[in-house]
Amino acid sequence: MILVFANQKGGVGKTTSAVNIAAGIGIAGKKVLLVDSDPQCNASSAVGILRRRVQSSVYDVLIGRADIRSAIVSTGFKNLDVLPSSPALAGAEFELADLERRERRLCNAVSEIKGEYDYIIVDCPPSLGLLTVNALVAGDGVIIPMQCEYFALEGLSQITSTIGKVRKLYNPSLMLSGIIFTMYNGRLNLSLQIVDEIKKYYKDKILLPPVPRSVRISEAPSHGKPIQYYDRLSKAAEAYDLLAKEIIKL
Ligand code: ADP
Ligand code: MG
Repeated sequence: MILVFANQKGGVGKTTSAVNIAAGIGIAGKKVLLVDSDPQCNASSAVGILRRRVQSSVYDVLIGRADIRSAIVSTGFKNLDVLPSSPALAGAEFELADLERRERRLCNAVSEIKGEYDYIIVDCPPSLGLLTVNALVAGDGVIIPMQCEYFALEGLSQITSTIGKVRKLYNPSLMLSGIIFTMYNGRLNLSLQIVDEIKKYYKDKILLPPVPRSVRISEAPSHGKPIQYYDRLSKAAEAYDLLAKEIIKL
């Protein structure tokens, strides 16, 4: 099962959710590959992969310079491997534009190793460009992390319309698998209102629980650890573990 974490907005918790849900699925006993498809490399560093030690990255794989197997590294966390990113990936949008079947590069690469993992989790950059399209073409399902803020609904309609286009053009079986609420504050009326509003339109797509806002979550990446390994007993670790279990049930 290939799950793509996408939302064209930056700072909504895509990377945080992709990393911690990947870790949670691994802890639950399933083999996971985390694909970092954002040139910012935040998912790679969040699982302790140092940039200078990355020999081949998703960039080399996409442009056909490296075999996907040679680029995958194990993280040391339970059942969790990563296909790291590199800053060079920022140029990929342009470089891929000239290659044939440019929207299927990730899909083709991943198909070689798909059978070796129970779940492949793809972290996307904050845009709906060619990198995100590559992820959506490869994916079985999309998980949309969102913050409970006023413009959330608007963003949601943009990403769902992109999913619709990709489904029509390239990948008819792509599904919207779920919506995750991040940085949730249950004491804020606005958070509650936004969740209610989204429930009206996407009731059966909402994955619970919401992830609470937590300082520990924002600290964990600088230690190169998913939250379950950084602060196992925190509310945020518990939330991501529960979400991982929900996702396994999908
Ligand atoms: P995106 O990948 O969508 O750009 P990130 O996952 O990088 O978003 O999150 C943006 C920022 O918010 C990061 O600094 C991250 O540490 C922080 N953050 C994410 N989730 C939480 C949370 N539940 N509580 C507190 N901070 C969070
Ligand atoms: Mg990110």
